[in-house]
Amino acid sequence: MLNQLSISELTAKLAKREVSAREATQACLNQIQAHDGELHAFLSHDVSDALAQAEAADQALAAGTRHEQQPLLGVPIAIKDVIAVKGQPLTCGSRILGNFNSPYDATVTTKLRAAGAVLVGRCNTDEFAMGSSTENSAFGRSCNPWDTTRVPGGSSGGSAVAVAAQMIPGALGSDTGGSIRQPAAFCGCVGLKPTYGRVSRFGLVAYASSLDQIGTFTRSTRDAAVLLHAIAGHDAQDSTSVPQGVPDYAAALDGDLKGLKIGLAKEYLLGGLDAEVKRAVETAVQQLTRLGAEVVEVSLPHTEYAVATYYIIATAEASANLARFDGIRYGARVSGADPIELYANTRGVGFGPEVKRRIILGTYVLSSGYYDAYYLRGQKVRTLIRQDFLKAFQTVDAIVTPTTPSVAFKAGEKSGDPLQMYLQDIYTISCNLAGIPGISIPCGFSANPKLPIGLQFLGKPFGEATLLQVAHAYEQATPWHRERPAQV
Ligand code: GLN
Repeated sequence: MLNQLSISELTAKLAKREVSAREATQACLNQIQAHDGELHAFLSHDVSDALAQAEAADQALAAGTRHEQQPLLGVPIAIKDVIAVKGQPLTCGSRILGNFNSPYDATVTTKLRAAGAVLVGRCNTDEFAMGSSTENSAFGRSCNPWDTTRVPGGSSGGSAVAVAAQMIPGALGSDTGGSIRQPAAFCGCVGLKPTYGRVSRFGLVAYASSLDQIGTFTRSTRDAAVLLHAIAGHDAQDSTSVPQGVPDYAAALDGDLKGLKIGLAKEYLLGGLDAEVKRAVETAVQQLTRLGAEVVEVSLPHTEYAVATYYIIATAEASANLARFDGIRYGARVSGADPIELYANTRGVGFGPEVKRRIILGTYVLSSGYYDAYYLRGQKVRTLIRQDFLKAFQTVDAIVTPTTPSVAFKAGEKSGDPLQMYLQDIYTISCNLAGIPGISIPCGFSANPKLPIGLQFLGKPFGEATLLQVAHAYEQATPWHRERPAQV
């Protein structure tokens, strides 16, 4: 089945002309056709546009273009619906952009096109990427392919489902507080959030600009290396992207772990951690030791403040970023007697309850009477959290943690209780506050029901190559990433 091939397997076959880009794309479209009615990974996909791109890739292959020149030539890729693809819908899972089509390509989209990828469709997301389950999408939730009564995680849940359900070999998501790593853990795929500044955010609809970063979903760490390489790099259109060379991540995969020191963060193994997740992570740590790494305990003392700090800073930035959706400039408009009423009507109808909650919270923490007590204090604690990591990285090369406190929860279980939902992010949020890279890879399953468990590695700023190397060594020694959900 061509849709089950990894990016690396597919490019090898495309290069030898054993399969065509059209066949590979059609196989993905067939899988979407067969399963997306139930799983709802996609908000939209354009069959004729995808096949036209595939034809163009086949022509390039026939004319002698090689994967050394265009590493993703003929490879189907899906993109979370918060990233601009010219001429295609850009809804952000929100009614306010329900009929909006993007007039331009995000830089990552331009880079994927330049690498030869076939862009197949737009994946479901919590509204404006605010959430941990896709239940905040205005267009209905996505379902976890391992158990459709459960959530796939979020906010990039659609991208995770598409990759895990064999609809696409790779997808892009965005991660502001865990939105790539948590759904990757819940769906059993590889999710990589790069260092802040590694990948351009130009054309990513801003949620919390100092935390947002675009990253990848794949079925192997090798594919993560290839896809990251295609999208990374400095961009003059994003002043926070860093002018630093992009290493050959795939070439760095094969080193062994001898001489590497991996930190086990003691604060991440306390409290509300599910027993099966804890056991899987402890077993993974033993495996890392057998692979030659030296595992030592490290302390990240400000971890307990991370969730509160994040929900101050993220909501503050969101309240400012979402001011642009006013019924005048973008998307839906609900008229009113005067401009103020037009804004209120448009935003009242256009935004869902979680987005409104965050705009109100963010406006509050930025208001003149509370700015010092909340926002300014939040920024100071953020610095302490970053310093915790930089101190730990003086002695270790990477840190290992669980990705999530539990396996995928039932749909509806937490949607009525925002605080319970926010606590989902406890292990993923600090990474964004510190601006460092993180990756989640499969490390086992719960027994009954059988649901994937994620292992997270956190790295030094711009240390993606080391993260990928450690994750790859673990992946090669374990069977978890090869498991597939039964129904697909
Ligand atoms: N769940 C977190 C939130 O709701 C993270 C979302 C994200 O990373 N986009 O903000």
